[in-house]
Amino acid sequence: MRVIETVDEMRAARHGWVSGSVGFVPTMGFLHAGHLSLVERARSENGAVVVSIFVNPTQFSPTEDLSLYPRDLPRDLAVLESAGVDAVFTPTVDQIYPSGFATYVVPSGVLAERLEAATRPSHFRGVATVVTKLLQIMTPHNVYFGQKDAQQVAVVRRMVADLNLPVAVRVLPIVREADRLAMSSRNKYLGPEDRAAAIVLNRALQAGAAAYERQPAGSVADILAVMARVVAAEPRAHLDYADICDPDTFAPLTELRAPALLAIAAKVGPARLIDNFLLRADGSWEKGVSVAP
Ligand code: AMP
Repeated sequence: MRVIETVDEMRAARHGWVSGSVGFVPTMGFLHAGHLSLVERARSENGAVVVSIFVNPTQFSPTEDLSLYPRDLPRDLAVLESAGVDAVFTPTVDQIYPSGFATYVVPSGVLAERLEAATRPSHFRGVATVVTKLLQIMTPHNVYFGQKDAQQVAVVRRMVADLNLPVAVRVLPIVREADRLAMSSRNKYLGPEDRAAAIVLNRALQAGAAAYERQPAGSVADILAVMARVVAAEPRAHLDYADICDPDTFAPLTELRAPALLAIAAKVGPARLIDNFLLRADGSWEKGVSVAP
């Protein structure tokens, strides 16, 4: 497995992979089983697999956790080597944003205004910019994302369509801990009590899905109230939003009908956590997969 730090070397390595498809998994590192599900799928679907590890400063606002973001490159590299990855791209910030950098990809419309975008202004500008740059460097056939970051998935799909980027976007289900907490590098911020409290996000989604199933013609407001009540009962959690929206446009839905996304974000202790359930077009739920304890 090659570990590559510069854009020029990465491009040269990419040009060496002439036969078979190239699969690309962008990450910010501190890898867990969620990331590895993407790597494994990429491994099974492509001739070559490249993973990037880059904590992208432009997607953090000045008040967010950029400097605290957990990192463990030696462990990440060992895990990726065992997963059969061909190359890992670990650029410095200067490689991606050299002095004088001034060109951004800026998503617009409802998708770039609601939910995550409302709480994290300029987050998706940073995501769209870095993903575009990495796709330009890697020119992969397939790029892999997790449904965990559902709005990121929608932003990337929109951007790939709008800018005619020649890549297939592949999206995989949320990987969860045994108690159904969605895996996240940020779970490291949770002490034992906050860790126990954090499953309230999943409990709220379960309660929302159950309310819908009990009363499919019930109102969106009622389901959101059920979800908010579950979070309010956990003193360590502070709800940022509970929402039901179109999974592609993120426009709010006035009635819950498939396809729809139940999305939630809450602060638990020092960590801001997100989770979601997807009501697929065929009426079945995608709630993610739990790993064994
Ligand atoms: P990150 O390192 O947090 O930027 O995540 C890199 C990729 O892994 C993104 O496409 C995420 O959506 C995906 N990912 C993160 N957590 C999970 C999870 N629990 N299950 C599935 N995919 C995930």
